[in-house]
Amino acid sequence: MLIFAKEWGGRAEMSEMKNEEMRKMNRRDWLKVAAGMVVAAVAGPLVKGSPSGSDGAARQAAAVTGGGASVSGRRKAGKIALREMVGCVECDACMPCGYGVDIPGNFRVYNELLAEGMVPDVEREDETSGEFRRKAVGFLRRYDRSVADRHQSQRCVRCFHCVNECRHGVFIVTELAELTALTDALRDWECRVR
Ligand code: SF4
Ligand code: SF4
Repeated sequence: MLIFAKEWGGRAEMSEMKNEEMRKMNRRDWLKVAAGMVVAAVAGPLVKGSPSGSDGAARQAAAVTGGGASVSGRRKAGKIALREMVGCVECDACMPCGYGVDIPGNFRVYNELLAEGMVPDVEREDETSGEFRRKAVGFLRRYDRSVADRHQSQRCVRCFHCVNECRHGVFIVTELAELTALTDALRDWECRVR
């Protein structure tokens, strides 16, 4: 845990957390805490240098407050939450990400798996079924093989540098957060059934 905390830059805060509290957290909760610390550390200076204008500011604010809010403030799910294709054409305009996220690579493997019917619905499917297991294990193995851990969606710290770069309607931060939520849910499931 501590090594990961250092990697995310949340050194002082994380070292102050009691071991007992950390043990009680599942992976998703822990990531939320770590991401919150990093955002607090970096959002101020980076927001100043990020895309200007009311649209950029609104999108940044929306991402800070929930990651799924539209510019108008109305909550809006991304494509991944709706189990739809992400409209990424791999133009690389949003790259590079300073935190190592392979943005188009993450969306590519998700889209491929969705096209193959290999994205399980963690909300509606019976997680004890063989079909769920087939999809969940297949999804995680392919994702981990295709995108190295240091380039995966959970590395996004919402620094917002990429937010206004996409000309193809991909709300990158929201989609990455939803992909992280999906993989975290599947990894939690895998831990439970082991
Ligand atoms: S918002 Fe996330 S994906 Fe975009 S540049 Fe920042 S860390 Fe990278
Ligand atoms: S800018 Fe948009 S379309 Fe281009 S690689 Fe990034 S997410 Fe995909």
